[in-house]
Amino acid sequence: MGAFETATARRSILKGFGALAVGAGLPAKAAWGQKLLANPGVELHPQVHCPPPSAWSDLARALKGALVMPDDPFFGDYYRPNNLRFIKRPGGIARCSSADDVAACLNWAKTTNTPFAVRSGGHNYAGYSNTEGLLIDMSPMAGILEVDEKSGTVKIAGGTINSLVYKALERLGRTITHGRCDGVGAAGFLLGGGIGFNMRLYGIGSDLLHKTDLVLADGNTITASDGDDLLWACQGGGGGNFGINTSFTLQTFKVSTVTVFELSWSKDLDTVLYNLLHRLQEAPNGFGCKISVSVPARDANCFANAGMTVSVLGQAHFGQAAVEKLFGDLWQAADKKKVEADMAYWSAQDVLSEATFPYYYREKSTFMNTSTLTKDTVAALMDSARGMPRTSMGSAFKFFQVGGAVNNKKPGQTAFVHRGYDWLFSSEVNWWAPKDPDSLVNEALAWQESFYALALARTKAVGAYQNFPDPSLKDWQQDYYGDNYAKLRAVKTKVDPKSLFSYAQGIKPV
Ligand SMILES: Cc1cc2nc3c(=O)[nH]c(=O)nc-3n(C[C@H](O)[C@H](O)[C@H](O)COP(=O)(O)OP(=O)(O)OC[C@H]3O[C@@H](n4cnc5c(N)ncnc54)[C@H](O)[C@@H]3O)c2cc1C
Repeated sequence: MGAFETATARRSILKGFGALAVGAGLPAKAAWGQKLLANPGVELHPQVHCPPPSAWSDLARALKGALVMPDDPFFGDYYRPNNLRFIKRPGGIARCSSADDVAACLNWAKTTNTPFAVRSGGHNYAGYSNTEGLLIDMSPMAGILEVDEKSGTVKIAGGTINSLVYKALERLGRTITHGRCDGVGAAGFLLGGGIGFNMRLYGIGSDLLHKTDLVLADGNTITASDGDDLLWACQGGGGGNFGINTSFTLQTFKVSTVTVFELSWSKDLDTVLYNLLHRLQEAPNGFGCKISVSVPARDANCFANAGMTVSVLGQAHFGQAAVEKLFGDLWQAADKKKVEADMAYWSAQDVLSEATFPYYYREKSTFMNTSTLTKDTVAALMDSARGMPRTSMGSAFKFFQVGGAVNNKKPGQTAFVHRGYDWLFSSEVNWWAPKDPDSLVNEALAWQESFYALALARTKAVGAYQNFPDPSLKDWQQDYYGDNYAKLRAVKTKVDPKSLFSYAQGIKPV
């Protein structure tokens, strides 16, 4: 938290007192509106629950971190989520600096009956870290808290975003299973599973979790450790369900060099995709990749290569010769190839990682095995993708290679049930709402439903990745958690029987 932030937060609160004086005698909602109107540039927004300014002042006093109010010049930046479809303007944002701050927020939300949402990186696909009430922002609680060199475990603060985890691990010469996107929060990533190019070697991110500290619904702090049902639940049971995690202790691994590669093809795409899926199936566990079939934006046909492409991005914990051998003929047939052999691990992540900016999207995922991806099925998926109504942004369907160490655990061993598969399949439709009319977006989403249904029918795929939440799923409990849902409900009942932590696809107590 910077001094400036504290200053602006205090300024907001002082203005709040002023507004309260002006609005004395008015009902709470009117006083709140008066405060907003008193601040030029702050639009009046209908609030679901409107605690009066005095209540927000109480919260500000209870926090060590800043309470950011709507008249703060950076208010909009603090609450903007990655998926703009679900943006909501909160009443206030508590920038938590400690577990005590988190407990104070929960206590305040209960006392004032104000809805709240918890946020770390704000990258939830379905907007479950948005609220019109209190946004509990964990991102100031960031960084590495402890390193145990003997066991190789590292304790990270609950609000840390990926880029900070990477920097810290780089200094230690160690790694975990991590994603590629800088801004994703470690909390959401780990609590929902956590896939990345290292997962076939080390397991998914949450397989590496040994301990986590949480503030529970009753305001008490608890440590969940190996063997506890609560730790089990935090290994894939999804963010925002059991409490607010303020730290994560993870197993790390020493790293040396990797070969990174990105290849793409623009011809014979059905054959290329089929061959990739079947060849890469044979890869050793040190190989991680994502195969993407890209559908360009609608106005991209002014460029020479505006057709669909197939590409593979990945890394191998071995040299280029072995990577080339895995690809076989496909290596030479690629139109574009970028390879960096034997790079220092964290320099390689600079090549692979990406910063993503907020836009509008929907992702639908499921888990598949290579044996079901016959030539006919691949051709049917490609045919359907060719007919996708194109939006102003490129879209894609992807196969993240799972298998390897991901499948070393049984489905019930942690809350992450999706074991025994070769690929996490995912279809993304992206758009930029100001450019794309609703009718086009609806057409594209309807196409995506039929495409997803085709993939399910053809491959008998099951489940969906809980870290790619999709509000349109009907049986999300079964899709995300399968047979683990009953145990997740039992854990929920124990730690949050009144469902203080609740959202549309949240785990419900018994
Ligand atoms: C651009 C992009 C790239 C991605 N890449 C990957 C990837 O490579 N691998 C992968 O597995 N996933 C990936 N994801 C998915 C991502 O892991 C999930 O969306 C994840 O839940 C985001 O975490 P977050 O903290 O950023 O999100 P948030 O929206 O802040 O939180 C996600 C959920 O967790 C809850 N939550 C947040 N903080 C806490 C906390 N401290 N304690 C308890 N609950 C909390 C929230 O309330 C919400 O329900 C990506 C998503 C995007 C948008």
